[in-house]
Amino acid sequence: MNAKSVKRKLDQGEDLVLLPLGGTGEIGMNCYCYGVGPALTRDWIMVDLGVKFGDERDPGIDVIMPDVGYITKNRKRFHGLVVTHAHEDHIGAIAHLWPQLQCEVHCTPFAAELLKLKLIEHGLDEDVKLIVHKPGSKFALGPFKLELVPVTHSIPESCALFIDSGRGTALHSGDWKIDRFPQMGHNIAEKRLRELGDRGVDALVCDSTNVLREGESPSEKDVAASLGDIIANAKGRVAVTTFASHVERISCAVKAARSAGREVVIAGRAMRNTIEAARKCGYLKDAGAFLDFEEFGYLPNDRVLLLCTGSQGESRAAIARIAEDSHPQIALEKGDLVIFSARTIPGNEKEVSAVINNLAKLEIDVITADDALVHSSGHPRQGELKQMYEWLRPKILIPMHGEPRHLRAHVEFAKAQGISETLLLQDLKIARLKPGQAEIIDEAPGGRLHLDGKLIVDSEDGPARERRKLAMSGIVFLSVLMNDRGDLQDLVLEADGVPAALPQELEELAEAAFTAMPRARRKDDNVVAETLRTAVRRACDNAWGKKPVCKVVVHRT
Ligand SMILES: [Zn+2]
Ligand SMILES: [Zn+2]
Repeated sequence: MNAKSVKRKLDQGEDLVLLPLGGTGEIGMNCYCYGVGPALTRDWIMVDLGVKFGDERDPGIDVIMPDVGYITKNRKRFHGLVVTHAHEDHIGAIAHLWPQLQCEVHCTPFAAELLKLKLIEHGLDEDVKLIVHKPGSKFALGPFKLELVPVTHSIPESCALFIDSGRGTALHSGDWKIDRFPQMGHNIAEKRLRELGDRGVDALVCDSTNVLREGESPSEKDVAASLGDIIANAKGRVAVTTFASHVERISCAVKAARSAGREVVIAGRAMRNTIEAARKCGYLKDAGAFLDFEEFGYLPNDRVLLLCTGSQGESRAAIARIAEDSHPQIALEKGDLVIFSARTIPGNEKEVSAVINNLAKLEIDVITADDALVHSSGHPRQGELKQMYEWLRPKILIPMHGEPRHLRAHVEFAKAQGISETLLLQDLKIARLKPGQAEIIDEAPGGRLHLDGKLIVDSEDGPARERRKLAMSGIVFLSVLMNDRGDLQDLVLEADGVPAALPQELEELAEAAFTAMPRARRKDDNVVAETLRTAVRRACDNAWGKKPVCKVVVHRT
């Protein structure tokens, strides 16, 4: 940070600022920090700390997280983490990054139950102080007065967060939709949101996921009715796959099963964990008992409904294994029906399509959200966004929870609705919300972290970068043994991921390249290694059109 930028910020005194560490630029790894005060003595809170799932661009990386180093460095003035709801993209990184943050975690009872399971897995359940608040609660963290405002979404107890720094106010929307007929839990707190609007909301920091969609999301009530019809008319076995955390949908599917006289079997650890957490918090009370896998095969075809994970095509999840006919306890056959009661998250299309194709091979019928109203998203479409703007009348709209195209469209949409100020923010930019015009005033260092097996590594300099090269063109390993005079004693070449015809040819070529080297050059191991590496890669390029990773180790007798 240069002297000029320090001075500029000190002049601004008690700024209210927003720093997204993740979530503005991707749907996933949500992590938003709100700060108040001069730059060098700023007080911070964090809202949500989630993960994003890896894809083939980062081989071997399942989980991507925001780098929270900037907040860790300012830990003395960091007052805690507030969780808006228990989706993985909002809580998934807490257990991984809490050892760095060492902070209080504020959340609702349902999020606390799911978090406890994760903390136990990480051996942190004794260390992390979970402070549980019911939706609607007010509490203070450092200079911030906070209020969890109930909203409707696709997991129990979702809340927006009203933030009053004394200097300015922000409504952090969390993930939300307007469902007038939710089938579980609270309604959206319309009255309270209107009151907050009357009181004055400086900035609305708002979910952008469905900003490209016109109209309003269907209610869960309509999804429940549609699922009910489909299940009532099914003749064979029925499997419903949905998000493991979608307790409301699970409840709707269970009700549909009960009215059709079907027993319910649950498959998938994540779904069983959610159900257990939900029951501890008083949900699913009238859902009755669920049966174990073992009983699935003994029930008549029209007397069973399977609820399972894998709606995103996850290869290890129950529905993928059933579709491959490799599940140890559960099999479906011709005449049975699988309902995908979920949307395919962008990026998962190939995997979902593979599962549906496998089911087609077994002549199992499939219904997806393209065929019938078996899913409704938990995020606001344009009509709902407009409604929220009307309730809150914010001075500034800052889009979040979106890819760049969503954020940009959200800015345009808000302008068209007459919101006077908008700010397109990206991860790591620090925006001043108050006083004055909202603007970007600085940038925090940081980036993304990869969870690689059990270790947390940097996303840029970590092993995924090297693995991408290995995945494209394999590796050639060369071991060279020389004596003191520089004569070649032995040369061994091993290759992986390289066409079988090449290694023999390469070994001969490497020997020739060695022999062609003047004796003076053979004195330096590094020169020998680099000469052979270049020769091998060039030969591969000529013969194969690709340059593999090449490692050369030189030994001397
Ligand atoms: Zn989310
Ligand atoms: Zn969510």
